[in-house]
Amino acid sequence: MNQYLPYLEWISNQQEIMTESVKRWAAINSWSDNINGLQQMASTLSKEFECLESEIKLHPLPLQKIINAQGQFVTRPLGKAISIKKRPNAKIQILLAGHMDTVYPPTDPFQNVIQKGENLHGPGVADMKGGLVILLTTLQALERSPFASSIGWEVIINPDEEIGSPGSYSLYQEAAKRNDVGLIFEPSFSDGAFVSARKGSANYSIVVKGKSAHAGRDFHQGRSAIYAISHFIHMLEKLPKDLPTTTINVGYIQGGSVPNIVPDLSVCRLNVRSNTANEMIKTRQYIDELILDCERREGIQFTLIEDSNRLPKPFDAKTEFLFNAYQKCVEDTDNRFELRESGGVCDGNILSAEGLPTIDSVGAIGGNIHTENEYLFLPSLSERARIAALFLFKCSTGEIAIAERSNKNASS
Ligand SMILES: [Zn+2]
Repeated sequence: MNQYLPYLEWISNQQEIMTESVKRWAAINSWSDNINGLQQMASTLSKEFECLESEIKLHPLPLQKIINAQGQFVTRPLGKAISIKKRPNAKIQILLAGHMDTVYPPTDPFQNVIQKGENLHGPGVADMKGGLVILLTTLQALERSPFASSIGWEVIINPDEEIGSPGSYSLYQEAAKRNDVGLIFEPSFSDGAFVSARKGSANYSIVVKGKSAHAGRDFHQGRSAIYAISHFIHMLEKLPKDLPTTTINVGYIQGGSVPNIVPDLSVCRLNVRSNTANEMIKTRQYIDELILDCERREGIQFTLIEDSNRLPKPFDAKTEFLFNAYQKCVEDTDNRFELRESGGVCDGNILSAEGLPTIDSVGAIGGNIHTENEYLFLPSLSERARIAALFLFKCSTGEIAIAERSNKNASS
């Protein structure tokens, strides 16, 4: 342990600098749809990561195809992702990842970053500008230590995580194949507990087309899209018994115009969550069957679009090994270790589905994320960086025996 101490001590001394970085980064509005803000964030991050003297690349992402409120396909531009690599030919390869987007539009009243005692309040301070600062400091500590030479690393920071990573999904899939371990700097629970398993989550849009008619003169000629979607939603609630861990939330519904016209269009959006990949697949089949059933009514047509789909992240043996090693690092740095499941998803779900052992809550301690009360517990910045850095040091010295994945792709 002694050999690691000077470099962990260096991290403790970075606390003030880390705090200032979070304040600056959280002041940039980088909502997933704010392309200019994401551009500004990407340039800021690219500049700040230059100190690692590594190869930094910006990746334009393809347009996302989505259904608008009128039931039409439209495209949505996405921000650029950043990738950074160092020593891609080292034996052990570690992926460190995070996202730069937040859930707060520039029109949201929650824009200011304010420090109150040991907490910093602001949009994205915990989820996850604080995590990105921890990621950077962890790598700075590694690079200034003698442990750097024997491990390689890759960083991915995407601009579309909060909308399901539609454009960066494949970047993560590819990166999962090149690495032996994944660390994602999402926030932990507000009491500092790490996330063990995560549910899977899929978003769907459904467009229902019927036939419009005058509600007085030709009512029976019409086919109500609103009636059809209401019937569908009512049936959807009756989940079969073989989907015990599944929940379906209908989060949005739109349709119709005025009371005296039979509505010919309705759009609805729903979110499915399950504990197992098998249930995710079965739930999709259940929805497909319900749609077929609803379409038997003459003149009604359903179209189902999958907007995003991240499979569950189970707590398997590989993940358990990784958590045991991480627990030791948490305890060695005098922190308390706790583990808990979460219904929320993140890009750790994608890495895990590709077989990469991943811990995805190694970022800041904070709470009330995705609300106007989001906060970051400031001392966790250097604390969490010390833990992550110690983990990397131990991987380098072999104190943590990272199994090189046999099917790992050659780094490119
Ligand atoms: Zn997040």
